[in-house]
Amino acid sequence: MDYRKQFFVSPGEKLSLAGIDPAHTGGQASAEEALPEIQKHVARMAELQALLYADGNQSLLVVLQALDAAGKDGVIRHLFTGMNPQGTSVFGFKQPSAEEAAHDFLWRAHQRTPAKGEVAVFNRSHYEDVLVVRVHNLVPKAVWSKRYALISDFEKLLVQNGTRILKFFLHISPEEQLSRFKLRLDDPARNWKISEGDYSEREFWSAYVSAYEEALSKTSSKEAPWYVIPANHKWFRNLAISQIIADSMQEMGLKLPPTRVDLKEIAAKYHAAEAAQEQRVAKTPKPADRTEKRGGKA
Ligand code: AMP
Ligand code: MG
Repeated sequence: MDYRKQFFVSPGEKLSLAGIDPAHTGGQASAEEALPEIQKHVARMAELQALLYADGNQSLLVVLQALDAAGKDGVIRHLFTGMNPQGTSVFGFKQPSAEEAAHDFLWRAHQRTPAKGEVAVFNRSHYEDVLVVRVHNLVPKAVWSKRYALISDFEKLLVQNGTRILKFFLHISPEEQLSRFKLRLDDPARNWKISEGDYSEREFWSAYVSAYEEALSKTSSKEAPWYVIPANHKWFRNLAISQIIADSMQEMGLKLPPTRVDLKEIAAKYHAAEAAQEQRVAKTPKPADRTEKRGGKA
């Protein structure tokens, strides 16, 4: 199954999240069955990241958006493990700092976009400014409603500069969220993840759904696609996202850069250095001899 086709949000088309089953598993029977396939995609992602870094002409931006406990952290932990930290960054978007809030809403996102050769993962993103901001009326409608077009222009700028953009909405049901909250409560190792906001935000579920529906359909495009990923089952979420990322990176036409030197000349230099090294070794007294001399003096 090509998940890029299946989960792509059609640009401009009215999106109904209610029509997408968060528990969908696409005929895949079980986590055990999916695991080897996930591992294969994760390995491809890692290989392609090394190539992206060497190539140095393009970059990749992965945007993860979702309600609490939908698995943004899990996606990062499970799928980006193979990538070299040199050339990869993850940034979590929290409530804006005073300095961030004093700038335009794209300012902080632009500072974190990937340079050529790099991969950047946004855990939440500039989309919060048409999601939480809209749901809680943090700015007037006249302000947030103009942001969809600004976001699309911003992303167009990145694309034209060589950035591949992939945006994922992790779609879970309220029931699944509650069962994950229970896990956070019952497991001392997860207690730290609990915030008051977890429960108060649940009250706004339907407002978030409307905000997501509008944001996704207004800002999805062939160049900067949104994918709605059924995420009640963590393994299926990982399978779909890893396939989409690996397939998209495969299409970037990444290649090792051409050699910058005359290989024949360098080979000659290497052989000369090797010969000089051998001569040095031949002239240097063996460590055992020196020990004997020192021993003799004492
Ligand atoms: P978490 O991802 O659980 O660490 O929580 C981060 C919190 O920061 C979430 O509640 C987000 O909604 C909030 N947040 C992120 N960006 C913004 C923003 N631009 N304005 C207001 N709140 C934000
Ligand atoms: Mg949270």
